[in-house]
Amino acid sequence: MPELPEVETTRLGLMPLLQQTVAQVIIRNGSLRWPIPQQLPELLRGKTLHALSRRAKYILAHFDEGVLLLHLGMSGRICLLEKDEAPQKHDHFDIVFASGQVLRLRDPRRFGAVLWAGKTPQEHMLLKVLGPEPLEQAFDADYLYRNTRTRSAAIKIAIMDSHLVVGVGNIYASESLFRARIHPQRSAKSLTKAECARLVTEIKNTLSDALAAGGSSLRDFFGADGNPGYFQQQYFVYGRANDKSGEPCLVCGAPIKMIRQGQRSTFYCGKCQAKT
Ligand SMILES: [Zn+2]
Repeated sequence: MPELPEVETTRLGLMPLLQQTVAQVIIRNGSLRWPIPQQLPELLRGKTLHALSRRAKYILAHFDEGVLLLHLGMSGRICLLEKDEAPQKHDHFDIVFASGQVLRLRDPRRFGAVLWAGKTPQEHMLLKVLGPEPLEQAFDADYLYRNTRTRSAAIKIAIMDSHLVVGVGNIYASESLFRARIHPQRSAKSLTKAECARLVTEIKNTLSDALAAGGSSLRDFFGADGNPGYFQQQYFVYGRANDKSGEPCLVCGAPIKMIRQGQRSTFYCGKCQAKT
């Protein structure tokens, strides 16, 4: 699943489209997570793309008349093609620009989204419920401490809840908790202020490292032919164990463990991240 760093890298990869004008919008299969609005081809034709921003894992494309929301869902990928190429099976949506360049959404599982948010995107039902961005100042130790006092859920589940903070996906939740030396099954409200401070710092560090890795692999990531893939990164715990055994912890040598939490895999070191 594309996580926040992949989405941010996708946004950066689309920057060459700024100040370009839309020649045509093509909807081949509008049945994504929500239907693609049928009026988009008419709405966007002749409009100029002025800015590309991001909120959580949504890319916001700012046109003359309003904002288009793009979301990659579970398996989506946006390519920037230099010219129109024959679409493949899962290429559901194109924006063709007057320059000939094409923004193309490929999404085999169709959990992605293309939605019109008009002139007040912050009021859109999908955006207005979101918590703060993890890399912004509003997400700090005080905030995390205050907003976990009544949460009995495990801290790993809590930091993946976009109402609390956005963009901390499964990989980065496990990695941040390891780096902060906090057991993923601790209840959120059991964290001390100092632990909240450590966790906030490590969430920011983990995501910043991933963004830096994404920036350096932008060209590979955005090649029109390849698979979306993930940035080549060294993980401390993520993916380093299965049900039966684990690779040695890079810090202490104990075997990494894997458990299930909320239907997702969690990886941790039982020694570095002792429960009490
Ligand atoms: Zn360890």
